Amino acid sequence: MTSERFIAGIYNYCDYWCERCAFTRRCRNFASRRELEHEARGGKAGDDATRAEFWNRLADKVHETAAFGPADAWADEFDFELDPTPDPALVARVEAHHQAVGEHPLVRLAHAYMKGADAWLKTADGDLKAVAQGLLAAAGSKFADEDYEEAAREMGELLEVVAWYHTLIPPKLGRAIGGLLERDDGDGADHTLLKEVRLEDANGSGKVVLAAIERSIAAWLRLRGILPNREAEILRLLALLSRLQRGLQAALPGAQAFHRPGFDDPV
Ligand code: SF4
Repeated sequence: MTSERFIAGIYNYCDYWCERCAFTRRCRNFASRRELEHEARGGKAGDDATRAEFWNRLADKVHETAAFGPADAWADEFDFELDPTPDPALVARVEAHHQAVGEHPLVRLAHAYMKGADAWLKTADGDLKAVAQGLLAAAGSKFADEDYEEAAREMGELLEVVAWYHTLIPPKLGRAIGGLLERDDGDGADHTLLKEVRLEDANGSGKVVLAAIERSIAAWLRLRGILPNREAEILRLLALLSRLQRGLQAALPGAQAFHRPGFDDPV
């Protein structure tokens, strides 16, 4: 396989939903994971023992000496003494940064959405089962003139979309806002470059969040039609997503135009 098979850095701005990804064959991250899993399984179906073997093999990679030599050897290349005492100023700065990110209105909004969607998914179970049973019963009817199986499958997929993205949005947004809030008071070319890189990364994470919001909105709109008795809650969740979308576009105006390798390339 040539290295052109892989799209450089595609996994940096994806939604980690490999099962649904159209680029598994072009993602080095996915290929490496597959390779490790395959090695561990030895062609057999995965069980606890083979999964344990997988993690053991991964740990063994750390001790491999072929590429870098023994860890002790390359660690000695560095001629500075590592002081294990944390720098209090640095610790305070990191903590303040985490706090600022956690308290950012958009991050709070994202968490409010995650909590609301989570509660909805847990409590909608009964309604969804009733709809699914209705669809299955209709599918068995000799008078059925609609593709009810397809409708049941679609409903399952809509739920998967909502469930996947509601937990992805807060951490990805946290990363985007983290990049935006990162303080750097230094001057000079290095600092300018660092600021640019951080903003670029924030835009990339922001773009992933915008895509996740868009897909979630589409899924909720369909679910609204399927479960009219849950409409009020769905509308509240849609309102949160819409506020999040507008807020993110305002906070990171470069996010929408960010080019994600692979995903934003012409097919
Ligand atoms: S780019 Fe696709 S295959 Fe690679 S890690 Fe992301 S979702 Fe998975």
